[in-house]
Amino acid sequence: MTVTWTTGPAEGFATSHAPCVACAHRAFLPEPIGIRSEVDSPEAAAEILLPRFLGADRERCIAALLDTKHRLLEVATVSVGSVDHTFMGPREVFRDALLANASAIVLAHNHPSGDPEPSGDDQRVTARLVRAGELVGVEVLDHLVVGGPRWVSLARRGHV
Ligand SMILES: [Zn+2]
Repeated sequence: MTVTWTTGPAEGFATSHAPCVACAHRAFLPEPIGIRSEVDSPEAAAEILLPRFLGADRERCIAALLDTKHRLLEVATVSVGSVDHTFMGPREVFRDALLANASAIVLAHNHPSGDPEPSGDDQRVTARLVRAGELVGVEVLDHLVVGGPRWVSLARRGHV
């Protein structure tokens, strides 16, 4: 089955990266230029972003910054919050994306409770960021909510 941002299951499980410190470490190393693959689905984004949340005991928001062909430029930390809240304002979300000249981003934040179910606030913030992205020319492709090894795609749920 071909998966895209909108077709495929809205939820996933990080089997390959589950609690694996070695994998998390590897995920921090930059890939050699030229073999970066396209981030074309929530599954592809989850593979890059989920290891960044390993062992996180408070909420944080990160963003995969992508070029015009949706290849990974870098992963930026948007904010680090408290145990049950992190701030996802447009200024913070798009600051690094604009500096990196990114064309698109995939956002992700974690729920330290382990429950990846997006809150009503998560849905409203995402809608707001999609509109802000349209204004500044950075497409918000998806927003993943991460709980432990599980994730939920707001794009697949129809909120992006
Ligand atoms: Zn949330």
